Amino acid sequence: MASQRQINVGGVPIGGGAPVAVQTMTKTETADLRATMDQIKRVAEAGADIVRVAVPRDQDVEALKEIVQASPIPVIADIHFNYTLALKALDAGAHCVRLNPGNIGGPDKVALVANRANELGTPLRIGVNSGSLPKHLRELEFENPVEALVTAAVEFVELMERLDFTNFKVSMKSTSVPNTIASNRLLSERIPYPLHLGITEAGTKWSGSLKSAVGLGTLLADGIGDTIRISLSTFHAEEEVKVGWEILKALKLRERGPVLIACPTCGRLQFDMDTVVAEIERRLEAYEDPIEVSVLGCAVNGIGEARHADFGITGAKDTGMIYSRGEPLKKVPTERLVDELFAEIDRYYKAGKRVVRDESRAAEARSWLAENEDASAMTPERMAAMEAAAADKEASPVAGRRFTRTRT
Ligand code: SF4
Repeated sequence: MASQRQINVGGVPIGGGAPVAVQTMTKTETADLRATMDQIKRVAEAGADIVRVAVPRDQDVEALKEIVQASPIPVIADIHFNYTLALKALDAGAHCVRLNPGNIGGPDKVALVANRANELGTPLRIGVNSGSLPKHLRELEFENPVEALVTAAVEFVELMERLDFTNFKVSMKSTSVPNTIASNRLLSERIPYPLHLGITEAGTKWSGSLKSAVGLGTLLADGIGDTIRISLSTFHAEEEVKVGWEILKALKLRERGPVLIACPTCGRLQFDMDTVVAEIERRLEAYEDPIEVSVLGCAVNGIGEARHADFGITGAKDTGMIYSRGEPLKKVPTERLVDELFAEIDRYYKAGKRVVRDESRAAEARSWLAENEDASAMTPERMAAMEAAAADKEASPVAGRRFTRTRT
């Protein structure tokens, strides 16, 4: 169930139906101001809504004062063990402070932090981690790790409520994808507060992205989760942001930049599509509009499932074709496909988002397509289309959920 409460982290609403926010965490030494600010600028450019910085020492608090002033996006201070650092981070102007009520020195210390946060109107993120559950839940953790995580989170929530503090979101992290899914599902039924989702220590860019896509994607598709962070073993925090966005874009929860669709290729392919797709993906990074661009490895399928794409190419050995919204635009030599595709995209923007068609070139492309298309071929796309049509007859498991939300 989606969270009912909303908090505001430095101007970014979290929960209560707000768009799912993408977060990351800097990997620099926070006190290294130049390196930290460089990374914050890079993650902001990649689309991070919020950034978290580690604050393990006093010199990091000093840097934090300048970071919150200079950062283009809200900054969360990440605190462990030391409640005085949490107080100092609040006073330094952090837009939110993340702490684990279980490792900050007991309820009295949590109360001091909550009181100060209340005075300043600053939200907190209270985090529970499978690796640092309170002692009295250790036994339960062996028997039922999901229940142990959820119990810890609920106990912390109740503690905050007893302290008259409700300006918080909750994160419950585990390295296990099934446990993350199960525990967040349970917690979302038990508390009304916004949830931050992540898979702890997910791994490298490849495996970590997949684990995160499966774990977070499953929850987000159910409407659970208000902000996400993809934890990847890389020094390039912007990679985490890109993966987070791809998950949200795949679920149509948010839009950002073009969407690239590409066929998986098969034995019909006659040109170097790997290189072409990589080049198109790279060049599309310069565009902000959510246009859909499709790349088909051959024309046997006609324009097939790329019919809805704003622009697309289909290639062959020597000649390919550029199309737009199901209609051929022009035939071009294969080695010119990418340049001509971008020429058409730029022409579209120059004409005020209007596809510019040259009828004689379009007619030429249509006849090339007719020669190359084989309406009877059972291609991967046609099989997928048949399966999708069959599935459409059954009720969609995600109907009515939050897929239409866009950033305001
Ligand atoms: S048949 Fe489909 S998968 Fe194979 S190259 Fe053509 S478009 Fe790509």
